[in-house]
Amino acid sequence: MTEFGYAGNILKIDLSNQDIIKSPTSDYSQRFIGGHGIAAKLYWDMVPPQTRAYDAENSLICASGPVSGFPGFAGFRWKVCGKSIEGDRESFNYCNLGERWGAFLKFNGYDALAVRGKAEKPTSVVINNGNIEFKDASSLWGKTTFEVIDTLKEEYGKNVSILTIGPAAERLIPYATVFTDEGASGSGGLGAVMGSKNLKAIIVSSNKHRPRAAHPDKLKELAEKIRSIRPHTDIPSPWTIPGLTREHVCYGCGIGCGRQIYNVDTDRRYKSLCQASKFYAASVLKYSGKSDGSHLLATRLCDGYGIDTSIIHGMVEWIDACHEAGLMTEAQTGLPVNKVGSPEFINTLMSMIVNREGFGEVLARGTIAAAKEVGGEAEKIVHRYLSTRGSETKDYDPRIMIATSLLFATEPRRPIQQLHGIASLELTWLGMGNGKPGDFFPIERFREVAKKFWGSAISADFSTLEGKALAAKMVQDRAYAKESLVLCDLRWPTMITPDGPGDSTMENQIYSAVTGKETDEAELNKIGERIFNLQRAILLRQGWDGRRDDRLLDYYHTDPLEKAEVFWNADGLVPGKNGKAMSRVGKVIDRDDFEKLKDEYYELRGWDAGTGLPTESKLAELGLEDIALDLKGRGLLK
Ligand code: SF4
Repeated sequence: MTEFGYAGNILKIDLSNQDIIKSPTSDYSQRFIGGHGIAAKLYWDMVPPQTRAYDAENSLICASGPVSGFPGFAGFRWKVCGKSIEGDRESFNYCNLGERWGAFLKFNGYDALAVRGKAEKPTSVVINNGNIEFKDASSLWGKTTFEVIDTLKEEYGKNVSILTIGPAAERLIPYATVFTDEGASGSGGLGAVMGSKNLKAIIVSSNKHRPRAAHPDKLKELAEKIRSIRPHTDIPSPWTIPGLTREHVCYGCGIGCGRQIYNVDTDRRYKSLCQASKFYAASVLKYSGKSDGSHLLATRLCDGYGIDTSIIHGMVEWIDACHEAGLMTEAQTGLPVNKVGSPEFINTLMSMIVNREGFGEVLARGTIAAAKEVGGEAEKIVHRYLSTRGSETKDYDPRIMIATSLLFATEPRRPIQQLHGIASLELTWLGMGNGKPGDFFPIERFREVAKKFWGSAISADFSTLEGKALAAKMVQDRAYAKESLVLCDLRWPTMITPDGPGDSTMENQIYSAVTGKETDEAELNKIGERIFNLQRAILLRQGWDGRRDDRLLDYYHTDPLEKAEVFWNADGLVPGKNGKAMSRVGKVIDRDDFEKLKDEYYELRGWDAGTGLPTESKLAELGLEDIALDLKGRGLLK
C-alpha cells in the first residue's frame, strides 16, 4: 500500500532507448523524505562520480516532497538536481522551483522523475494519467520558454504544466535555467543539462490522483494555525511596483509572501520577487533616472532565453564598472557599454550571450572566466560583484554576517535558502527601512530567536565568532529537512511571530500529520543532517577536496567591506556586543578566524577537522552505513 503523503512511485526514463522503469518511492522516502533528499540519493545511485555534465549517464532528477498536494503550507515546491558546469568545475548542483509542475507529476503517480540518456533529436516527454509518451520537439527547438509554453498549451490545453528550456540551454550556456509555468525558474546550470539531452519539454497533465494524509484533521488544524500567524500583513511587499504589479499566491501555497505578478502588453503574466525584482533596477535608475518597473525587462529576457538572473546581475555590474574605469569599450566588446541601464544594452548583452556571438562567447563561460580572459584590472575587480566561484551575484556578504561564510564555503552553489536562515533575522533587526536597527525587533527578542533557531543567545552578537559555527550547522540541517519536505523558503522557517519566537516544531508536526511517522523536531533536523552528509559524500566522491575546498572567494579575506557595497545594508550594520549596533564597514574575514570557525564546525559535524572528511562513526549514527562503505573504498572516510 502507498505510504501516506506520497504518490508511491519513482519514474526513470532513458532518452537514448526510451526505456521506462518505475520503482517504489518507499525505497528512498524512509531515510531521505523527498525533494532534495530523494533527488540527491537518486543522483548518488545513478550518476557515477566520473560522469561529465553533458554525458548521457548524467541524470536530470526532479522530486517533490510529501507536503506537495496538501494546500496551505507553501509546500508544493520541488527540487531539480544533476551534474552541471555552472561553477568553477563540473559538480553536483541543485535548484528549487514553485508553481504546478512538481505537484502535477505527483498527481500522475510519481514522486520523482530521473531522466538519463540523450535523445537523437529534440524531444518532449508527455506524462498523462501516469503514461509516458515521447514526441518530436524539433519545431520547438530554438523557441523561447514563453513561446514553448504558449505553443504547448494550445496543443494540450490549459490544464497541463510544462517544464522547458530556452535557447540558452540548447546552446549549453553553463548557467542556463529550467523554466515552468508563470515564471518559476531553476538555476544551478541544470537547464544546460536538459539541453544536452535534447529534451525540450516535459509536459505533465493535472490528473486526478491525490496523495492521502495520515491525519487530515490535524493537518487542517495546522494549516489554520499557519494562516493565522502570517506576519506583517500590513506592510506592503518590498517587491511591489505601484501601478504595475499585483500580489500572486503560487499554486497550492495557501499562504502567500507578497510575490508579485504583472502583465506587459498581453495576458501573459510575469514575476517580480526577491532578486528578480531588483535585478537591473540600479542600472536603469542610474542611466535614465527611472524607477518605474522598466528594469523588469531584464528578468523577462533572462526567463525567455532561459538564463540565470543571478549570474547576469553581477556580470552587468562588472561590465559597468569596467567601462567606468576605462577598461572596456564598445569597440572591444561590441556591447553598448556607455548605455548600461538601457533596454538596448540588456537586449544586446543577452542576444550576444545566447548566440555566443563575439564577446558574448567569452561571457557565455561565466563572469569569472570572462574576467580572466580580459585580464588586468578588469580581472582584479570582478569579485566585488560576485559571491561564489560560480559567478553568482553578491548578496548576503559574509563580512557582514560571518556565519554565512560556512554556508558559502561548504556548498557547490549560492545556498540561498540557508543564507535566508541567517539574513532574515538580521534584516528584521535592521528594520527593513521602517525604522532604526532594533526599533522593530529589539535585541532581547533577537537573542531569544537566535537561541531557539541558531543554538545560542551569543550568536546574535555579530562582533564575535562565538556561536557562529553552531548557528551555521543548525541552519543547514533545518534547511535540508525543509528542502526535502519541500517547504517554500519564503515562508519557512517561521522564526518570528508578533508574540515572540516562532514555533520551531511546525515543520515536524506537518511531516508527522502527512506521513503518520511521528517525528519530533530533533529527529527531523537529524534527517536534514543525514541529507546534508549525503550531499557531502557526493561532493567528495566527485573530487571536492574536503577542508581545502571549503573556502570563500579570496576577496572576502583581502578586501575590506566598503560603504554601500551591499545594497540592503549600506552601512554594514549588525548587532554587536550588548546588542549595540556596529558597522562592519572596513572589515575582512580574517583567515585565521575563518580556519578556527571551520575547526569548530567540523567538530560539531562529527567530521575529521584535519581533512574535513566525514567519520565512519558519524555516518553510522546517521544511518548512512552504505554511503560510508563507498567512501571508505575510495579513501574518503576517517
Ligand atoms: S510563500 Fe510565496 S513564493 Fe512561496 S509558494 Fe507561497 S506564494 Fe509562492
